[in-house]
Amino acid sequence: MTACTSERMAMTRLTIDLDAIVRNYRRIVALAPGSAVAAVVKANAYGLGAAPVAAALAAAGCRHFFVAHLSEVAAVRDAAPAGTPIYVLNGLAAGAEAECAALGAIPVLNSLVQLAAWSAHGKRPAVLQVDSGMQRLGLSPPEVERLIEDPGLLAGIDLRYLMSHFACADEPESPANAWQRDRFATTCAQLPSAPRSLANSGGAFLGPDYHGDLLRPGIALYGGDPQPGVTMAPVVTLIADIIQTRVVPAGAGIGYGLTAPADTDRVIATIGVGYADGWPRRLGGRGSAFVGGIRVPIVGRVSMDSMLIDVSDVPGEARLEGAPVELLGPHQTIDDVARDAETISYEILTQLGSRYARTYIGS
Ligand SMILES: *Cc1c(COP(=O)(O)O)cnc(C)c1O
Repeated sequence: MTACTSERMAMTRLTIDLDAIVRNYRRIVALAPGSAVAAVVKANAYGLGAAPVAAALAAAGCRHFFVAHLSEVAAVRDAAPAGTPIYVLNGLAAGAEAECAALGAIPVLNSLVQLAAWSAHGKRPAVLQVDSGMQRLGLSPPEVERLIEDPGLLAGIDLRYLMSHFACADEPESPANAWQRDRFATTCAQLPSAPRSLANSGGAFLGPDYHGDLLRPGIALYGGDPQPGVTMAPVVTLIADIIQTRVVPAGAGIGYGLTAPADTDRVIATIGVGYADGWPRRLGGRGSAFVGGIRVPIVGRVSMDSMLIDVSDVPGEARLEGAPVELLGPHQTIDDVARDAETISYEILTQLGSRYARTYIGS
C-alpha cells in the first residue's frame, strides 16, 4: 500500500505475523498426529488475507483448505500448490455446478438435491456433510435414512470425506460434544466407508476421540482462544497514533452526546480509529487501549473515524500527538477486546478495517 509520508505517520498499522499462524497450525498438527489438518481460510482468512495466509500454511505443509463461497476459491488456489484441494463449506447452489467444476473446487454437499446435481457433472470429488445436531447445514436425519437405504446415490461422486460440525466445541464441558461425535460415528458406520472430518478449532482441543481424519481449524490458527484457558500464539498487532491531545476541564462531556463528564480535569487523546475501521462502537466507555504499556480507557462514544482515550495517567511525551497507541498486541488480545465488546474474537478479526496499513511479517 502506498501513502504519502505525512499520511503514513497517522495511518494505523495492522501487522500480521505469518510465523505465529504457522506455529498455531503446527501445534494442532502435533495434537492430532494420526490425522490431516486443513486450514479454514473463509472470509479472507478471517480478515487477515487469504492469499498470504494460505501461502504461508501451504509452505508449512498444509494440504487442505476450506472456504465458504465459490468466490473465495481463486485467491486460495493461486496461493497453494497446484491440485491442493479447496472445499466450499456453504455447498453448491443450484446452477453453480459448472462454475464449481471449472474452478476445480470441491463442494461440501449439504443435501441429496445437491448430491444429485453434482453427480450429473461426472464422478467428481465432493465432501458430504451430515447434520449431527447443529441444525445449520448438512443432510437431515430423514435424508440420511434415504441414503442408508440407497447408498447407490453416492455412486456418481468421488466421496472424499463425510463431514459434520460441532455446535459447542468451544465449551469443553458441554454434553453436546460427545453426543454429536457419537451420532456422527453412528451415521458414518451405516454409510459407505469414507474418511471423516469433524473438528474445528475447539474440537481439536477436545481430544483424539473428536478428531476424525481431517481437522478443520480456523480461529485457533489466527490467535483466537479455541476454548477457555487455551491460549494460542497472538497473530495480530494493531497500533494507532494519537492525532490530537487536549486537557478537558472537570464537568465537560466529551465526544458525540457529550457523555462521560468527570469530577477532575483530564487529558484526553484522539486516535484515528472508529467503527468504520471495525472497532466496535460498543467499546465506548467499556474498552481499553495501551499507551507505553499503561492501560487507558476508551471514553465517550466511538465515532466513525476516531475515538477518545483518557491518557491522564500517562506521563509526558507518550500522550502527545504522534505517540503510538496499542489496540491489539502484547497487552491486549483479540479475546480481551471481544470480551469487552460482548462478542467473539471471530467478529473482531473479520471486521478489521480496510484503512489500516497492513504489513505481513515472517515466512
Ligand atoms: C468456520 C468453520 C470451521 C472453523 O471453525 P473455527 O471455530 O474457526 O475453528 C470449521 N468447520 C466449519 C463447517 C465451519 O463453518
